[in-house]
Amino acid sequence: MSMNELPGEPIGMFTFDNTYARDLEGFSAPWQPTPVASPCLVRVNDALAESLGLDPQLFTGHAVASVFAGACVPNGASPVAQAYAGHQFGGFSAQLGDGRAVLLGEIVDPSGARHDIALKGSGRTAFSRGGDGKAALGPVLREYLMGEAMHALGVPSTRALVAATTGERVIRDRPLPGAVLTRVAASHLRVGTFQFFAARGDSERVRRLVGYAVARHDPDSVDAPNPAMALLDAVIDRQAELVAAWMNIGFIHGVMNTDNVTISGETIDFGPCALLEAFDPKAVFSSIDEGGRYAYGNQPAMGKWNMARFAESLLTVIHSDLDQAVQMATEALDRFDDRYRDHWLSGVRRKLGLDTSREGDHVLAEDWLDLLARHRIDFTLAWRRLADAADGDDAPLRAMFDDHRQFDAWLIGWRERSSAESREASVQSAAMRDANPIYVPRNHLVEAALNAAVDDDDLEPFDRLLEAVSRPYDERAGDERYAQPAPAEFTATYRTFCGT
Ligand code: AMP
Ligand code: MG
Repeated sequence: MSMNELPGEPIGMFTFDNTYARDLEGFSAPWQPTPVASPCLVRVNDALAESLGLDPQLFTGHAVASVFAGACVPNGASPVAQAYAGHQFGGFSAQLGDGRAVLLGEIVDPSGARHDIALKGSGRTAFSRGGDGKAALGPVLREYLMGEAMHALGVPSTRALVAATTGERVIRDRPLPGAVLTRVAASHLRVGTFQFFAARGDSERVRRLVGYAVARHDPDSVDAPNPAMALLDAVIDRQAELVAAWMNIGFIHGVMNTDNVTISGETIDFGPCALLEAFDPKAVFSSIDEGGRYAYGNQPAMGKWNMARFAESLLTVIHSDLDQAVQMATEALDRFDDRYRDHWLSGVRRKLGLDTSREGDHVLAEDWLDLLARHRIDFTLAWRRLADAADGDDAPLRAMFDDHRQFDAWLIGWRERSSAESREASVQSAAMRDANPIYVPRNHLVEAALNAAVDDDDLEPFDRLLEAVSRPYDERAGDERYAQPAPAEFTATYRTFCGT
């Protein structure tokens, strides 16, 4: 008997409603599971399960582990690998697609929101090219941890429902435990999904995809006079907001290729991502990003570049006259910078503890970031300690700078600006502690947690770190090490990797 025919296959675990597989013929390839040696649930995200209307108590047992290890299809699923293309580091690949992922189906949560349930690392598909279709435990746990951290930080993100192991080894630079991540996303539509059909001159499918995306993500625009323009405008705004949110927590995505840019505005794919330590707009950690294309400070420009590629893929649907279409798309793209700036500035005002907006706030913010860059100050801690300064306790922040002249001058300016507001200092500092996290997934802690899990079968560091970053704003006695920057030597040589 193969794993696919296990008795007691989980029934009613998910109530699927698979619009993508059902309504979009020609956009994906059906997928067949393969048995795995020894499926095992490693971690289940109970809180996420509950919010999806699933009973976390059902997530147990061999048959369920088989489902989440990609060896067995749950009832009602219609598993498909989705087609997509993408600009990778500026160069176009017309055929990428889910090479190691499969969309099991969609579920609707109790609030009425629709979610994709997808497996990542579940074996080869029609789009695998030379790849093995598999994932290793380390990267699966990284994605789990980062998605939860982003979610807790209020940044839209895909999230992990389950991490499971397969009992098999995957071959990377060394044999590693094979694993499968169950990913929950508002959808897996990407800029690259549109590019796949646009590159083939298949305007009809681009049009259908626009209709599908609008119905799913922008239902208020289904009757818009020009749904493609409505979608373009909405995606530009979501991506501007997303990148602004990344910038304000010091997140470096690392691989902002158009196949990793969602239509929903969620962060997706955490392979080579990292968090800023000492503030440096040029910071880049990805081993393959030699030119610094996706460096921290380049992310807004790359976000806009990706939106230009999205606009191009929509041109034939925007208007039958190409010149007209280009003009309309360009006008939408021209709004990216202002949208980004508005989202960034409203985030930065919260971080600065400002409740109102005044002319010159952006200068105050930019001067602060200049100071952090010039003195290479830890981004997360500096912001957090500015909240202490709001309470009148300047010393911890001041101690982070070795040259105090510019810092003192800036602090006077910030105090003057703060005093123009009617809030009490204690209200301001509390608001700042809600906007400036103390616990972010520090790179060295993430690596240590993944190493312990993979090399020593020890998930305690992972669990402890997950717990810390899941409540990033409340400082807790005993969790000091989760707030500390990495040793400078660690950060100087830290490298991250794609597609692992
Ligand atoms: P990623 O770097 O995970 O965003 O993946 C980029 C592209 O490479 C996507 O089309 C993936 O499906 C594909 N890919 C990455 N790793 C593998 C793998 N191990 N096997 C097959 N395809 C892969
Ligand atoms: Mg990807």
